[in-house]
Amino acid sequence: MTARILVVDDIPANVKLLEARLMAEYFEVLTAHDGMTALSICDQTQVDLILLDIMMPGIDGFEVCERLKQNPRTAHIPVVMVTALDQPADRVRGLKAGADDFLTKPVNDLQLMTRVKSLIRFKALSDELRLRAETARSTGIEGLLSPHQGQLDEPGLVLLVEGRANTQDRMARALKGIAEITAIGDPQAALFEAAEKPYELVIVSSALEDYDPLRLCSQLRSLERTRFIPMLVVAEQGEDDLVIRALDLGVNDYLLRPLDPNELVARSITQIRRKRYTDRLRASLTQSVEMAVTDALTGLNNRRYLDTHLATLVDRSHRRDRPLSVLITDIDHFKAINDRHGHEGGDDVLREFARRLRGAVRGADFACRYGGEEFVVVMPDTTQGVAAQIAERLRDAIAACPFALSATGAQAAVTTSVGVATLETAGEDAASLLRRADQALYQAKHAGRNRVVGEAA
Ligand code: GH3
Ligand code: MG
Ligand code: MG
Repeated sequence: MTARILVVDDIPANVKLLEARLMAEYFEVLTAHDGMTALSICDQTQVDLILLDIMMPGIDGFEVCERLKQNPRTAHIPVVMVTALDQPADRVRGLKAGADDFLTKPVNDLQLMTRVKSLIRFKALSDELRLRAETARSTGIEGLLSPHQGQLDEPGLVLLVEGRANTQDRMARALKGIAEITAIGDPQAALFEAAEKPYELVIVSSALEDYDPLRLCSQLRSLERTRFIPMLVVAEQGEDDLVIRALDLGVNDYLLRPLDPNELVARSITQIRRKRYTDRLRASLTQSVEMAVTDALTGLNNRRYLDTHLATLVDRSHRRDRPLSVLITDIDHFKAINDRHGHEGGDDVLREFARRLRGAVRGADFACRYGGEEFVVVMPDTTQGVAAQIAERLRDAIAACPFALSATGAQAAVTTSVGVATLETAGEDAASLLRRADQALYQAKHAGRNRVVGEAA
């Protein structure tokens, strides 16, 4: 893992110390001795993480952080604030300023590497997701994707795996303001529970009776339903080995006993916030992928989707030696409909056509808008005879009663012509299959429209 880290501190010795430790782990390190310099470095170069001192002459760390988070160009750079041990209130102020994490001075090596690596991993993931989402959908994304700052709007759903009842109580009390807690003592039961509800954080105690806490962590990471849940391990002083192995397994962060309630709250908020952010990114990515393969007017899949999906279905049909048929349908004299009812009226016809098309085909069939007023239905496991019947049902569903146009309140009689083709067993490809269906459609038009033609002669 390589990344560029900016270390900001007004005391040169502090900068040197952090720089040396980070360089020993092969990170690239930039340094700044005051807030303004830090801001200008972030503005001009790509920085992956900032370690930010609080007490500095000129603008202090809180203000640097606030300005970074307000600037869309720098808002996504993770900020770790370096606070003095005797100033717990600084953490709360830091979180309010938008800090992603914090370290206390003197900085402990394990903590430093944990926070740095986990944030860099997080940034790499969110950069990747953001990039893909932005490519797929260029507008209106900034607001949706900017990391959410400040306190949680809604309490987090937290699963606490801790055997001792009094510790459960104490932790639940500390987290009460920010989370809805389910506490479980039995690790196996906890694993099932974690898969049941949309938990946003699992806190695992290292002191589970007769059970290796790391086993639970690794199971949570490998189960499909729980693999993205952030995990926080609570360990005893001196359990460094356990913490290191936990982090290797993908545990996001750790806390040491005796627990500082402020720290428990701050770290939980950070994890929940981060989870919500990546969830939003993932959802937006999924949505943009869907948009890329969906026709906006009718909600059917578009031609781009058909092109890839049909090839897959053709392959499968050959492999399994199963029939596959397609139909292409094109609305008759659609230009005249547009001329008479306007483009809006034409769009109404297309929407209603798509609705009737969906109703006429079976669940396993796959319908898409191929172009202007042309639609394709792919019918797996369907012979030529059955496909012709489905095509006839579709033709009838369109012609049987006129279309009501909401744009004008008028009605339009619509008919459609259909060409059907069935995949030839001798390794025919998707393009050839579509070409034959298109030829059949052409014959249907030629023979007078409002009709179905099977295999082109
Ligand atoms: P034919 O029976 O031979 O298919 O005649 P046609 O008029 O339907 O065929 P043609 O291909 O000449 O015209 C199709 C028209 O469909 C032309 C185009 O303006 C219109 N069209 C294509 N896409 C849309 C759309 O999204 N909305 C509307 N309203 N019209 C569209
Ligand atoms: Mg047409
Ligand atoms: Mg046409």
